[in-house]
Amino acid sequence: MSLDFLQDSVQFLKGVGPHRSNALAQSGIHNVHDLLSYYPRRYLDRTSVTRIADVRAGSDPVTVIGTVVSTTIFPGRRTRRFEITLEDEPGRRMKCVWFQGVAWVSKSLEIGHKLAVHGKPSKFGGGVSFSHPEFDRLDEDGTQLDTGRIIALYPGTALLEQSGFTSRAFRKIIYSLIKERGAELKETLPSSVVHSLGLMDGRVARRAIHFPKSQEELDQARDRLKFEELFFFQLMLASKRVGQTKIPGVVMHSGGALESRFLDDVLPFRLTGDQQKSLTEIRADMASEIQMNRLLQGDVGSGKTVVAAISALSAIDTGFQVAFMAPTEILAEQHARSLSTLFQPLGIEMALLTGSTPASQRKHILSGLETGAIKLVVGTHAIIQDKVEFHRLGLSVIDEQHRFGVLQRAELSEKGNRPHILLMTATPIPRSLALTLYGDIDVSVIRELPPGRQPIKTKMVREKEREWVYNKMREIVSDGGQCYVVYPLVEESEKLDLKDAVSGHELISATFPGVQVELVHGRMKSAEKEAVMARFVSRQSAILVSTTVIEVGVDVPNATFMLIEHAERFGLSQLHQLRGRIGRGSKASTCILMAEFRQSEESRKRLRAMELTTDGFKISEYDMELRGAGDFFGTRQSGLPTFRIANLITDFSILDQARAAAFNLTQIDPNLTRAEHSEMKQYFQLFFERKGLRLSRIG
Ligand code: ADP
Ligand code: MG
Repeated sequence: MSLDFLQDSVQFLKGVGPHRSNALAQSGIHNVHDLLSYYPRRYLDRTSVTRIADVRAGSDPVTVIGTVVSTTIFPGRRTRRFEITLEDEPGRRMKCVWFQGVAWVSKSLEIGHKLAVHGKPSKFGGGVSFSHPEFDRLDEDGTQLDTGRIIALYPGTALLEQSGFTSRAFRKIIYSLIKERGAELKETLPSSVVHSLGLMDGRVARRAIHFPKSQEELDQARDRLKFEELFFFQLMLASKRVGQTKIPGVVMHSGGALESRFLDDVLPFRLTGDQQKSLTEIRADMASEIQMNRLLQGDVGSGKTVVAAISALSAIDTGFQVAFMAPTEILAEQHARSLSTLFQPLGIEMALLTGSTPASQRKHILSGLETGAIKLVVGTHAIIQDKVEFHRLGLSVIDEQHRFGVLQRAELSEKGNRPHILLMTATPIPRSLALTLYGDIDVSVIRELPPGRQPIKTKMVREKEREWVYNKMREIVSDGGQCYVVYPLVEESEKLDLKDAVSGHELISATFPGVQVELVHGRMKSAEKEAVMARFVSRQSAILVSTTVIEVGVDVPNATFMLIEHAERFGLSQLHQLRGRIGRGSKASTCILMAEFRQSEESRKRLRAMELTTDGFKISEYDMELRGAGDFFGTRQSGLPTFRIANLITDFSILDQARAAAFNLTQIDPNLTRAEHSEMKQYFQLFFERKGLRLSRIG
């Protein structure tokens, strides 16, 4: 394969040159491969062009094609604008107007230019016009570039356009590139995959995505390139797993003495079907000689902790130690509390290790872990950060795993003799995203909630109804119930928000005389926090005012009411997490979203979604739609790659196929050493290595 050609710098291409190539470089286009993978953002189908005579104000966006017959710059500080008049048939004219970017738009458009313009028609000065439409220059200079039925429009930036890289320029450069050197393109996927799935040939697809001859051809090209992108991404993940299968894990058996006693005599309820199923999957992993790498995914309150606890008992029964890691001290403390209650009758030696464990105690714990006297340690990332040595670590449980970086996860999995890893998340991850993020791990899902739970009522409320909310809280408190009042904590304005929570605490205390109201926030000392939480758990306090420190994991079934202040400032997943603190017992629960009257359309949609459903899977899918996948976890934490053409939300069926094909390939040819895979391997290594996702095992 002519990989050299794909690596050629774009600066040597006709129509680019060393000077202009800077603008391309800044958009991530360095070589021929980058350029060919700079996919159009949209296509203009000439058959769906609207005649100016048929354009109506207020309609959906339309595309018109016309010739510029006049251009005017109107001066003035307030009134400055650039207007052009387009004509498509004699006498049929409409205006386009720009209030911003006047300087460069006016420079790029001249009388006589033929334009394709796309926008929403509106009424303007007596006629119909486009304001700030997308536009593209077409030309009929004999290249036949723009006379095809479907014309590619490319994503632009101000820099690109100022350097002359309009859609038209991209079409020209790519056209001559393909014309002159297209013969050097090769198929990039294994032919077995292309044939068995009936994919379009790679060479054809690379031309057709830029210059489609028909809508059908375009659809096929798009599917083929999406597949290729997802295939190579999955191949990267599959190849990691290839390495993993070589790593022996420790073999553990379930049904030991502690576990049996726990299941028979201690556990106060029956496991749900989904809990049982997850447990069976975990047991099978732990009993094999391959290191377990499993994500236990279940909505808030679905009962993941007890599944992890039973798995921990298998490990301890087999003579291993267990580390249980949580993202915050509050959560670690709570896990320690609930695990020690659960395990009390079993007499298991356990410890809590966090950043604020006093030095003397820490020393004691570290030595207990080293000798193996301590069987179970619960903690924050202090468990991995410190010089903690285990005697025989056999299982690491990581709760709310998305809060930990990929690196920390790796560190824990390298500890000691490569313990089995059980990740838990209450942030429901859409299936397509889970496969992508965790393509190298297995997933168990708990969808079913423990029996007897009542759905939480959620209501969006305005400031003027505050008194009604307080009355509701009074009723609950006088019935022996408990309430949360939550204030947002946004990093940039942490101080300000803290003030919110502190003054909120004062307000609530004054509003509820005689009721024990407490405050908890992230800046408090750990011992203080723990004391506040303990008093809330034991019902010594009735109302807990907090920042989002209670977001994850906190479990007080008697609390049935939550008031979320400034709800419009929270993300959807965060609201769902917060709301998960209530509805954990058998009593009905209510969640109040207090929101400003004036909100953005998006925050209204978020709050509406909260009112409509408590299904975390639906909420997360909705959240991804609103925010986009990259934003979903914060890209920094997730290491989520950005795809050029594939879309994780809409292309999940292609993702499934790509995953199956990639995993299948690594089974047949684990290191891609076969002759028929050597070109693909080279291509893969050259063009699919991404930051932080380097291919480590193949090669
Ligand atoms: P999460 O999945 O959010 O971590 P937890 O493990 O904290 O959920 O469980 C939530 C609550 O449900 C706890 O109080 C737990 O004791 C209880 N619970 C878990 N499983 C069951 C079950 N099968 N039947 C009844 N209650 C259960
Ligand atoms: Mg939990």
